[in-house]
This record gives sequence, C-alpha cells and structure tokens, in this order.
Amino acid sequence: MKKSVEKKRDREKKVITEMAKLYCRKNHKSGELCDECKEVLNYSLKRIDHCKFMETKTFCSNCKSPCYSPKMKEK
Ligand SMILES: [Zn+2]
Repeated sequence: MKKSVEKKRDREKKVITEMAKLYCRKNHKSGELCDECKEVLNYSLKRIDHCKFMETKTFCSNCKSPCYSPKMKEK
C-alpha cells in the first residue's frame, strides 16, 4: 500500500499536468503540450518530487516555497 504522501504526490502531478495542458491550449494554441510548456511541466514535476512541504501542506498553490517556475505562476 502506498503511503499517503506518495498518493498526494501522484495527485499533485496529475493536477499539474492538466494545468499545463490547459495553459498551453489557451496561451499557445497547441493541441498538445509545446516544448516550452513541457519543459515547465517537467520542472514542476521534479519540484514535487523534491518538495519538503508535501507532507504538511494541503496543495501546491498554498505552498510558500517557490515550487513553480515564475512562468507557471503567471497563470
Ligand atoms: Zn505551450
């Protein structure tokens, strides 16, 4: 059985992936993720893996650590 932290991480990753897709569709008019957004997404996913606050925080948007790159935050 997976630890709850891991579950949270997985869920967070899914949310971020969806967010990136939506963002790209809206702002870059591409059906799939463009290279730029893919890069941002991969970066964000990596941040999630290394986020020390995963256990205590409820959601990344509430996180005080700069998990997201400035570009993603703009959205
Ligand atoms: Zn894009």
